[in-house]
Parts: sequence; C-alpha cells; structure tokens
Amino acid sequence: MARIYFIDVTNRDGVQTARLGLSKLEKTMINMYLNEMGVFQSEFGFPTTRHESFYLQANLELAEMGVLKPIRLGGWIRAVVSDVEKAFKFVPNIKHLNLSISTSDQMLRGKFQGTKSREDIVGMMVDAVEAARAHGAESIGINAEDASRTKIDFLIRFASAAKEHGSDRFRYCDTLGYDNAFTIYESAKTLAEDVGIPIELHCHGDLGMAVANSLAGAKGAIDGGQDAYINTTVNGIGERAGNADLVATALAVTKSKGFAKKYQLGKPIDLTKAWKVSRFASYAFGVPIPINQPGVGANAFAHSSGIHADGVLKDPENYELYSFDEVGRGEPELVETGRKICSGEYGGVSGFRHIMGQMEVSFEDAGQAEEILELARYANVEAQKPLVEDALLFIAKYPKIAKKLLTLIPPE
Ligand SMILES: [Zn+2]
Repeated sequence: MARIYFIDVTNRDGVQTARLGLSKLEKTMINMYLNEMGVFQSEFGFPTTRHESFYLQANLELAEMGVLKPIRLGGWIRAVVSDVEKAFKFVPNIKHLNLSISTSDQMLRGKFQGTKSREDIVGMMVDAVEAARAHGAESIGINAEDASRTKIDFLIRFASAAKEHGSDRFRYCDTLGYDNAFTIYESAKTLAEDVGIPIELHCHGDLGMAVANSLAGAKGAIDGGQDAYINTTVNGIGERAGNADLVATALAVTKSKGFAKKYQLGKPIDLTKAWKVSRFASYAFGVPIPINQPGVGANAFAHSSGIHADGVLKDPENYELYSFDEVGRGEPELVETGRKICSGEYGGVSGFRHIMGQMEVSFEDAGQAEEILELARYANVEAQKPLVEDALLFIAKYPKIAKKLLTLIPPE
C-alpha cells in the first residue's frame, strides 16, 4: 500500500511570505529540527539566489557529515533550463530539486501574457527535467503551479510528460487555496491513476482548508495507487493565509477518525518535537503562535468551564483527543525574571562565557571563546535578536559550518 511522506517548505514558501523572513542560521536550525522530527524532505531554499549559496552549501555539508541525515534537502527553482544551469553552478553538489512552472489558463493568459502556449509549457518543463538529470540530480519533482485552476486533461498530459522524462514526483499546487477536500481528492486520485506518479500536495489556506485538503489529496493519491507527499510549513507560515501547518497535518494524519488505520506514514513523525520546532519558528519569524493553534497553542489543553474541567480531571480522554506530552509539552520551563545576559552583535567575551557557562559549555582557551563569540556576533547581525540556546550550541559545535552559512558576499 502506498504511503504518506512529509516535505516541509518553511525554508522556501515560509520565507517567501510578505513581511517575514529567517536568517541563514535560523533556516539551518529549522532543517535540524525537521530532521529530528523525521520529516522526509526540507525544501531548504533557492539555489539560484546568490545570497543563499553559502547557506545551501553549508547545509549540504552538514548532510555529508551525517548531521542533517536522513532528511533530504531539496532546492526550489523555476522549470527552465537557465535556472537548472544556475543552480548547479552556484550549488554544484545539490542533489534534490523541485522545478516549478505555471500550468493554468489564467497564468498562461495573465502571467505569461499569452506568449506561451500549453505546448511551450510542456516543452520548457521537459527541457528543464532533462537538464537537471544531465547535471546528476538524484531526485526531481515537477511542480504545476496553480494546478487547481488547470484543466485536469492538461495536468495529466503535463505530469505524464514529466514522468516520461524522468521526474520522480508531481507536485499538485493549490497555489491559491481554491480547492476543497472533495475536489482535491478527485484530482489527486485521477492523476495518480492516469499518470502513475507519486503526488505531492501543496495546499494553501486562503479558504481555511489547507490541512483538510492535504489529507484529502493524500487519500486521493493513495486510493489511486501512489505515494503521497504532503507539503507543510511550521506554524502554517507561508504566502498570504499560509500553508498546511506541519504539526496540525501530522496530527490529522495520525489522529483523525479512522485515517491512520488505512493511510499510513512512510516515515514516522516524532510529534514530541512539535512544541520545540513550533516555538522556535514563532520566535525566529517573530509571529506568535495563535492561542487556539492545534497541539501547540496556549489553549490546546486548557479547560475552564465546569463540565469540561470536571470531565478532563476524571479522564482526560473525555475532552482531549490526544495528550499534551505527545506533542512535547509538559516540561517545566525556566523563565529568567531577574538579571539576564543576552547574546548580541556587540557582545563581549565575559558575557558570552557567562551565557555558554549556563549551558555547561566551556572553552579550551581564550582563543576558542573569542572565535565562537565572533561567530555568534555575526549570527546576531543577521537575526537582530538574541540567539536561542540551540543556535548558540550549534555555533559552538560546528564553527566551520556556522562561518560558512554566515558568509554573505554580494557578487561583483
Ligand atoms: Zn505555496
């Protein structure tokens, strides 16, 4: 039986979000957390964007070192040969790519302004797939942007051509969040049956249905005999109203009525990491977690009304579908209410030794402390807020990698 996998796109769709962004170290920390959680692939960035080059290379080095393993790191580019060439020029050892092109009549008319026919779109995509293969890409996903507003006959033709030329997956992008659970089920099932290629579901929340649509689309792909790859972002952060939330989608797949009995994960997701990754993304993006967020919101396990409080005290299962410890909650957290020494871009060695000492990190000598402090300062320049413990520990543990991903040199 076909299975469900997660491809998280926080470091691509999430950082594309208007008014929001992540530093390169924060993106790296997201990759680390996703790996710990068991996510199959992280869409870790843009190989054709110059300021991403060192970050992408540093993360690929972490993969080679076995640190970012077994997670796959996939880059996102447009499905045009020039992007493929550029990607392999700037990031020669990139192994996994998703190539994206618009397929709907709306986009052909409105975006390409009538300069491209459907045949042109298929031709560009096929040339890009072949170029990526020729450059040694190990896995290629083809993305149909605005798939939900594309006629299904053309999508079948497009996806069939992608498969024929060596694409490993087909990403069905509900770019505008236009689908509902019923329509995306039908589309995913038809594509799985008629094309015979694993289907990625990329759902947006413009109508508030991103998680439900992801589940329905995955069901469609599997009922059609193909593996399903659900695209998520941490806390659902993504373009406009956002994407399918990673934690909510993982909960829905594993906890919703009867679903997990029939539709199983190909790779288990460790939900006990949910609290940590969600809190980190909230801090890094500077976006609070909504009080009613599934699993990780402040109210997700809060009860006050008489009947509910009484019921949950007698037996939590009366009013809770899953337990707080399943999503990594319940540990006491130390909040400093007195004096606090923070990392900063103008920090000095004394304060830094104090911060690291609290985490029981000591340095061999003054030189080593200075070296790590200098890297932490640069990380602070990028983040413009105090670094969290895990980020400081990362820098202390992998200074060479940190140096690389903090390197930003504009091209001549
Ligand atoms: Zn998107």
